[in-house]
Amino acid sequence: TVVTRFAPSPTGFLHIGGARTAMFNWLFARHHGGKALLRIEDTDKARSTQEAIDAILEGLDWLGLDWDDEPVFQSQRADRHAEVAYELLAAGNAYKCFATPEELAAMREQQKAEKKPMRYDGRWRDRDPSEAPEGAPYVIRLKTETGGKMTVTDAVQGEVSVQNSEIDDFILLRSDGTPTYMLAVVVDDHDMGVTHLIRGDDHLNNAFRQLAMIRAMGWKEPTYAHIPLIHGNDGAKLSKRHGALGVEAYSDMGIMSDAMFNYLLRLGWGHGDDEIISRAQAIEWFGLAGVGKSPSRFDAKKLQNLNGQYIREADDGALVALTMPWIEEELGTKLSPADGDLLAQAMPVLKSRAKNLIELANNSLFLYKKRPLDLDEKAQSLLDADARQLLESIHSTLADLDNWTLEATEEKVKAIAEAAELGLGKLAQPMRAALTGSTSSPGIFDVLILLGKEESLDRLADQIK
Ligand code: GLU
Repeated sequence: TVVTRFAPSPTGFLHIGGARTAMFNWLFARHHGGKALLRIEDTDKARSTQEAIDAILEGLDWLGLDWDDEPVFQSQRADRHAEVAYELLAAGNAYKCFATPEELAAMREQQKAEKKPMRYDGRWRDRDPSEAPEGAPYVIRLKTETGGKMTVTDAVQGEVSVQNSEIDDFILLRSDGTPTYMLAVVVDDHDMGVTHLIRGDDHLNNAFRQLAMIRAMGWKEPTYAHIPLIHGNDGAKLSKRHGALGVEAYSDMGIMSDAMFNYLLRLGWGHGDDEIISRAQAIEWFGLAGVGKSPSRFDAKKLQNLNGQYIREADDGALVALTMPWIEEELGTKLSPADGDLLAQAMPVLKSRAKNLIELANNSLFLYKKRPLDLDEKAQSLLDADARQLLESIHSTLADLDNWTLEATEEKVKAIAEAAELGLGKLAQPMRAALTGSTSSPGIFDVLILLGKEESLDRLADQIK
C-alpha cells in the first residue's frame, strides 16, 4: 500500500509551498487508499517552536487535510537514529572520523585556496580508530561510493544523476551523539513505511545522500517525486516580497478553504483544462503524472477571483455561518436569530459580487446599521442640495407604494428619473448613500427590499433636511 508523509520543520508558519506539498502527499495517499502521515521535523531545537507547530497543524486542518496515525515528532526518535548509525558502523558502511574542527577548517581553507570544491576528503575513511587519542570525540560518517555516478529516478524530474565523487562522506551522527537531519529523515521514512516521497525540488540534492544510506542499509527504496517550487509573478522564487504568507493569513483575508485547496492544487498539477476541481474530484484524479516540471507562479489576484467563484457557488447557509463572525466583530455585537435570517435572505444578492468573506461581510453591514446612519465621506459628498431634493421626491413617491416589491419600487424610481430627465444612476447613487451609508452595495432595489419599506423610508427621510 501507498504511504506518504508530510514532514514540515516547525520553524515558521505553514507557507504556500508547504501547504501544497502537504496537499499533494495527502491526495496521493487518498487516491490510492493508502496512508498519509505527518512528521514534525523538530530536531533543530533552537529554531523549532510550539507556536509554529500549532500554526502548521491549524493550517493543515483549515485546508481539510487529515492524517493517519498520530504525528511523529522527529526529536523523540534520536536514540533510534543513533542506533542505525551504529548499525552502519558495525557493518563497515560507516566509520568514525576523529578530525578536529581546526583540522577541518584548515582542510577547507586549502580547498578554497586551490579552488577545489569544499568537501570532506575522507581522511579517516581507511584509518584505524586506534590511531586517535584516547577518548577523542568523533563523528560517524557514511562511507559513500567513490567512482561512477548515482541516478535517482524521480517521478516528476525523470532520471537525475550525479557523479559519486561529488558526494562526500557526510556526517550521520555528530560528536555529541545527535543525529544529522540527513540520517533522521532516512530512518524515519523507513520506520514509517513511507513508499512515496513527494516534496519540493530543493530537496532533490538530498535524495542522493539519502539513497546512499538506504542502499547501505539494504532498505527498500522509495519512489521520489520532487515538485518544482512555486515562484512569484515575476518568476523569482516565492518569498514574502510576493505576498507569500502563511495559510492562516489567507484564511484571515476571507479566502475560503475550498478555494485555497483548488488554487494550490492547480499550482503545479493539472487535469486537462479543468479549473474548478472539487476535493472529491481531486482525490479521484490526482497522480504524479499530472505534476508539471516547471515552476508555477503564485498569483494572488487569481486566487481572489477563484475565491469569488467559490463564494458565488457556495451554499447560502454555509456563507451565513462563515460571515457571521466577521460581521459581529465589525459591529461589536452578536447577531440575533432574526439578523441571521436577514443575512440568509440577503446572501443571494450579496454573494454575487464579493471576492472574499470580508467583502461579503462588509457589504452586508448596511443591514444592521442603526439610524441615523453614519455616512462615509464619499457617500456624504454625494448628498448635495440637488440630491436631497431628488431623495425627497423618491421618498414621497415610495411612501405611497403599497406593493413593496423589486418590480414596483423599480418602476416608481424609473418614472421619477424619466420625469427629471436623469439616468437611473443619478438617482441610485444618492439613494445608496442614504440607505447604506456608503457608495457600494448590492443593487439599489435589492437594498430597498432587504431593508423593508419602513426602514427604507426612514433612512431616506434622515437625509432630507
Ligand atoms: N523538513 C523538511 C522541510 O520542511 C522536509 C524534509 C523532506 O520532505 O524530506 O523542508
